[in-house]
Amino acid sequence: MDILTGITAGISSTTSVLKLVSSIKELSDDSKVNTIMIEVQNNIIDLQQKLLDTQQSANRVLEERSTLKRDLEEEVNKNCLLQNYLLVEPRSGIFLYQYQPIEGDDTPVHYACPNCFGGKVISILQSPETESKRISCPKCEFSYDSRTKEEVEEDDRRFNQMVSDSQTLRF
Ligand SMILES: [Zn+2]
Repeated sequence: MDILTGITAGISSTTSVLKLVSSIKELSDDSKVNTIMIEVQNNIIDLQQKLLDTQQSANRVLEERSTLKRDLEEEVNKNCLLQNYLLVEPRSGIFLYQYQPIEGDDTPVHYACPNCFGGKVISILQSPETESKRISCPKCEFSYDSRTKEEVEEDDRRFNQMVSDSQTLRF
């Protein structure tokens, strides 16, 4: 039962009870008085049930309101946080969201995962190893090699040199 239906039913039941009570004044026969009193009691029980149903409906509405209010606040907070990020292209074809600290904000500049950002989730890209330049998202499969082109070439040169040295040692 919704709240308005409950209130309407409660008013209707109260009106019936009042009509029955006022009809008692005009009766002189005790048996008719008893019959009406039983009817009054039944109407009061019915009224009490309708009030309980209405109270439960009101509680449900208050819970839904509370949940919606909390969801709305979370959404507003999330959108505020998302506005602190700017889409950047650190390397051609690679797009990340970079944190833009406002004045007085000590939060270090960091990058957020572009996949998760699309779902309004801020997932800070992390480097699993201290010296590694590969950063990845702890929530999805996204990862990114943050080395510069020169660093990649230097690492490749060192790797090839290491392979060449190990082959020289074998033979
Ligand atoms: Zn992600």
